[in-house]
Amino acid sequence: MTFNLQSIVRKHILSLAPYSSARDEYTGKEGIFLDANENPIGSATPENWNRYPDPYQAAIKEKIAPIKGCRPTQIFLGNGSDEPIDLIIRLTCEPKEDNIIILPPTYGMYEVSASVNNVQVQKIDLTEDYQLDVDAIIEAINPKTKLIFICSPNNPTGNIINREAILTIIDNFEHGLVIIDEAYNDFSDEPSFIPELDNFPNVMVLQTFSKAWGLAALRLGMAFANEELIKLLNKIKYPYNINGLTQKLLIENIANTDFVVNSVNTLNNNRKLLAESLSELSIVEKIFPSDANFLLVKFQDAKAVFDYLIEQKTIVRDRSKVKLCDNSLRISIGTTEENTHLMNLVKAYKS
Ligand SMILES: *Cc1c(COP(=O)(O)O)cnc(C)c1O
Repeated sequence: MTFNLQSIVRKHILSLAPYSSARDEYTGKEGIFLDANENPIGSATPENWNRYPDPYQAAIKEKIAPIKGCRPTQIFLGNGSDEPIDLIIRLTCEPKEDNIIILPPTYGMYEVSASVNNVQVQKIDLTEDYQLDVDAIIEAINPKTKLIFICSPNNPTGNIINREAILTIIDNFEHGLVIIDEAYNDFSDEPSFIPELDNFPNVMVLQTFSKAWGLAALRLGMAFANEELIKLLNKIKYPYNINGLTQKLLIENIANTDFVVNSVNTLNNNRKLLAESLSELSIVEKIFPSDANFLLVKFQDAKAVFDYLIEQKTIVRDRSKVKLCDNSLRISIGTTEENTHLMNLVKAYKS
């Protein structure tokens, strides 16, 4: 592959001088710090948060790398996955000129971020069984195409995208990046692309602490790619994009992989039980195979079931207006009690 990262990055970004923070210019830990206009007395909170946090989150990356099978220099941390999604678009796509390819039905943020940046979005629908239409995707690639977003396991459908198909897209896209969003990878047996990144210079992988790690409120997303691309993302991010409280909590608790393993096991088991129970109901037409912590379920009349559940203060996601998801609700897997509650309600539902 003759991939050349410099050629897909917007020219003005290659030449711009990034903001240089106090913590960039002096990286030592010991001393009397009178360089960042911090409050030396302390904080208005019981714990002290008066010092700016590490702009590159080195301590967390050291701990994430062995868990994910990569080097710390291959990791970018963002304020949720939303941040690397936005940054990769701003890094590569010239507004009103370049385009990205997305594969609906899929996660909404790719299109929103592109649209905010006035970047054109090409949509190539998934097939009926929610797999890649490889020929149509390759056909749609043009010289102005910079990014192709592939979500696997896909949201809102829940299924894994066929690995061979992803590899074919990677092989056929030399002048842009394939972004593989693995937000739900922890719930599946499918191997991540992260350990293979050295073989794929044109791939960026997204993962998150919001799902299997149960840390959605901390807002911590991860992007993994070659060192050169990570450096460019660091160049354009806000200097202190990961706040100090998030960094501290992560460093203290990242060894708690038992929580992740146990909650994945519990939720995957609950998913299986919920799917079995739902499949016995006459109002349910289809339950789509899921490798994530949710189920896409097709009903005879999804909107009516959705409204009924809302009345009972039980909230699922109505995806029935989404292409290829007609009459479907996306149901996050709850605790055993929550799933039983949901089942009791849908069993009592009268159309
Ligand atoms: C939930 C989710 C994310 C994670 O978003 P955060 O901003 O990290 O909370 C990313 N991609 C997909 C497809 C998701 O469903």
